[in-house]
Amino acid sequence: MSLPLRHRVAAVLAVVVTGCVPAAAVPAPATAAPAATASARAAAPGNRKAWATFDPRARWNPCAVIGYRFNPARAPKGALTDLEGAIRRISSATGLRFAYRGTTTAVPHATKGYNPDYPSDTQLVVAWVDPGKQSEWLPKNGPAGVGGPAWTTGYTAKGTKVGLILWAGVVLNTRVTLTGGFGAGPRVGWQGTRGQLLMHELGHAVGLDHPEIRDQKQIMYPMMTRKKAVWGAGDLTGLTVVGKAGGCVRRDPPASATALTGGTPAEFGAFVRS
Ligand SMILES: [Zn+2]
Repeated sequence: MSLPLRHRVAAVLAVVVTGCVPAAAVPAPATAAPAATASARAAAPGNRKAWATFDPRARWNPCAVIGYRFNPARAPKGALTDLEGAIRRISSATGLRFAYRGTTTAVPHATKGYNPDYPSDTQLVVAWVDPGKQSEWLPKNGPAGVGGPAWTTGYTAKGTKVGLILWAGVVLNTRVTLTGGFGAGPRVGWQGTRGQLLMHELGHAVGLDHPEIRDQKQIMYPMMTRKKAVWGAGDLTGLTVVGKAGGCVRRDPPASATALTGGTPAEFGAFVRS
């Protein structure tokens, strides 16, 4: 039995960007890892073409640190260890730098009565929620997990417009009790592991969608499977595209590109996927 992560709600949500700006150059103990090498991609399982970004493509500014926090309320035992393991894996594959800022009471897309506000040093929050309770992202009978970014217009050093991710969230379903870690997972019951689910939702949080090529060897395949939680070849290609290799993204257009943008207001958007 496979566990549907799914619901391809091709939703472009109303954006709730609460004045978050890309992380300042704060000296923080950030994970600093090289992006996946070509040889790592060649050795990875599955189809290297099985990857997709959201449309329009959006990515984090790889020249800033992404501050993340963990909401311990309702989280299972060992959750933070698995989250840290998943963050190390996505940092290694993208070259993006993450810094743990501690715990929080914030919940991504919180419902009334729960804290929707990210601390100012935080761009990513991971929380466990009861279906239909704390987050609008996880309704009753919702999936195992949901993740996604909110973006605005950004610019490369050359002045090319790109989607710049400012904020992202991951919520995981308290009703889905998964085995911890990054192994193959159990033979019966829920398939996959908490590590696999976290890697998948963090993949959404850095701008990856489900690939059109259906390859079960990819972590971004929309169902959990009984595979070890290691990035597939397609995953690694996509993670490279949205990672450090694309160069810095800035919020403001460089002076030379002002004419190109003509004062058009910045666009905003958001994606969410299970
Ligand atoms: Zn998904």
